Amino acid sequence: MPFPSIHANDDVEAKHAANHQDTEPPASFVDGPTNHLDIFSVDPELGEHFEGDILLSPYQKLAIETDTDLSERNGLISSTKRWPNRTVVYHIVQDDFDEEQLQMIKDAMNDIANKSCIKFRPKEKDEHAVTIQGSECGCFSSVGLQNEGHKEGDEEPQLLNLSSNCFKKYGTIVHEILHTLGFYHMQSTYDRDEFVKIVWENIEPGKEHNFKKYTVNTVTDFGVSYDYGSVMHYPEKAFSNNGNKTIIPLQENVEIGQREGMSESDVIKLNRMYCEESGEPISYITDTLKEK
Ligand SMILES: [Zn+2]
Repeated sequence: MPFPSIHANDDVEAKHAANHQDTEPPASFVDGPTNHLDIFSVDPELGEHFEGDILLSPYQKLAIETDTDLSERNGLISSTKRWPNRTVVYHIVQDDFDEEQLQMIKDAMNDIANKSCIKFRPKEKDEHAVTIQGSECGCFSSVGLQNEGHKEGDEEPQLLNLSSNCFKKYGTIVHEILHTLGFYHMQSTYDRDEFVKIVWENIEPGKEHNFKKYTVNTVTDFGVSYDYGSVMHYPEKAFSNNGNKTIIPLQENVEIGQREGMSESDVIKLNRMYCEESGEPISYITDTLKEK
């Protein structure tokens, strides 16, 4: 069942449908009913946002819509900002989560921190932070730092939403935090057609935008080749209309859509994005990994 239909009010539905790529969901979305968990029983990441679980800033949305304009494409890269000082500042809405869920969020942060130079720290004063909340409306996040226009006292947080279903798989928490750090989905990369076949006829009508591909000007692979095992890869039946596969790997005997945690390539890319220019040693990347 498509997400908007859970709203009884047609106006709310229409507003939501029109705004699902906005930086923030409409208030009704955030504060909406809490009894619709079942709609995410298949995959809580596959919601109504851009590519299911991505919140786009107005600038990112514009850049994607104007596909022919190269400068806008480059703009998308520059607007997908990295967190300054390699530090993600966060504010967790404690009351939204139980002890086990808070521990899983902490574990995911520690996992990422232990495998890179990234640090996480709670918001201390009036500063930009990602608000980690648990509204029952799916798993979603903005991509990269979203502090455009942030001023002192500005109460427009960037969001990372984790409803209770998101905690079924540890890798889902890691996946959403990697969006917050600036990663898009694996199968969105410019050369994906060399690695996977998108079966358009199996995709639920109206959900085709979730399978958009970026140009080489939009995303970088940081010199790491396509990774079927990435925690950022969609599962093979994402947004399926009929239970059949929507993504078929062109290589045999590979699995896609794992949500156990970061793959080796995910770790390398994260380090290349944030750490290699920082002068800090990358302890996790062993010589063996570098040779790949
Ligand atoms: Zn995602």
